[in-house]
Amino acid sequence: MKKPLRIDIVTIFPEMVDPYMHGSILGRGEKAKALSIHVHQLRDWTHDNHHTVDDKPFGGGPGMLMKIAPFHEALVALKLRTKDGKKTAASNKARVIVTSAKGTMFTQQEAMRLSKYDRLVFLCGRYEGMDERIAEHLADEELSIGPYVLTGGELPAMVMADAAARLRPFVLGQKASLDQESHTVEGEVEYPQYTRPEKYLLTKKKSWDVPEVLLSGNHKMIEEWRKR
Ligand code: SAM
Repeated sequence: MKKPLRIDIVTIFPEMVDPYMHGSILGRGEKAKALSIHVHQLRDWTHDNHHTVDDKPFGGGPGMLMKIAPFHEALVALKLRTKDGKKTAASNKARVIVTSAKGTMFTQQEAMRLSKYDRLVFLCGRYEGMDERIAEHLADEELSIGPYVLTGGELPAMVMADAAARLRPFVLGQKASLDQESHTVEGEVEYPQYTRPEKYLLTKKKSWDVPEVLLSGNHKMIEEWRKR
């Protein structure tokens, strides 16, 4: 069996992330030892009574920024960076990802690329964002899930982790379900699919019907119809 993909998510809201990351197919992937998922409370790496993770931006401006120190300490504890800021040997097969609205756009191709690492670590921002040194010195890359701004990096981290994790062996039931999926080939989407009933009756005279070709049993015609 292949090595599990280890996913670490560092956040101030682990209670939002934990249920999703351990539920349904991802949870099944963990049981099958295809995934190993760890959600961390960033505040565990603070040292003041208020467990402060944010501070005012230099030069002024609205809101607060997430401080670099708790994220650096988190990566030291996860054995991916040294105290003096260097990468460790363990970080070679890992990817530290900063969630950011200004990052590179995440696509299915990016999901395929990320799924090949041994370990993915997502750093979740909140407030007005993060001290830029986190992206500059602690992260391998900065990724965005779309051209809009969310309140935090938790949903982006879960979106990217989910999309990468389901591509790993033994996470999904059938390999075939991956081959023909939307966006596996850039710009291509899956054919329309239908299930029972073949006639969805709205009134005695009106129904929404499954295309006849799919009920024909003629596999060649079905294949051609699906390629249209
Ligand atoms: N001031 C920032 C800007 O204009 O780019 C937005 C900060 S946002 C309110 C707080 C955090 O949410 C960010 O640090 C990032 O971690 C996350 N975030 C928001 N939108 C995102 C997106 N589209 N993709 C990835 N992360 C996002």
